[in-house]
Amino acid sequence: MVRVTTPLDPAAVIAEFVERVSPYNPQPDAAPVAVLGVRTALGEDVFTLSDHVIRAVCRALESYRDPEDRGDCANCGGRHLDENLHCRDCGQLHGILGQVIAEHARRVAASGDGPDDPQ
Ligand SMILES: [Zn+2]
Repeated sequence: MVRVTTPLDPAAVIAEFVERVSPYNPQPDAAPVAVLGVRTALGEDVFTLSDHVIRAVCRALESYRDPEDRGDCANCGGRHLDENLHCRDCGQLHGILGQVIAEHARRVAASGDGPDDPQ
């Protein structure tokens, strides 16, 4: 088993999540519908979850995005945009700055008398 190097206890995080979401269960007396087991180097725990809580877990997981996930490159479809939204695969620049640069290049090309226009 890989040792957890950061002070993150998944079982404790899940327990805290369940505690945070459970009070809003509209049917607190309904029987549990899911069992979730977690085992890490820090220990293990088994959670019996209501429909309300397992749905909340699923929504939380669905909405998670990796901090490195800055979307797909519009040019090559690559998934490795750096913090400046610059595609590491093809060099395309995205975001506001990329749009401004692309628009400027289009205007310069359209006017035909831009300072950087060779024609
Ligand atoms: Zn790209």
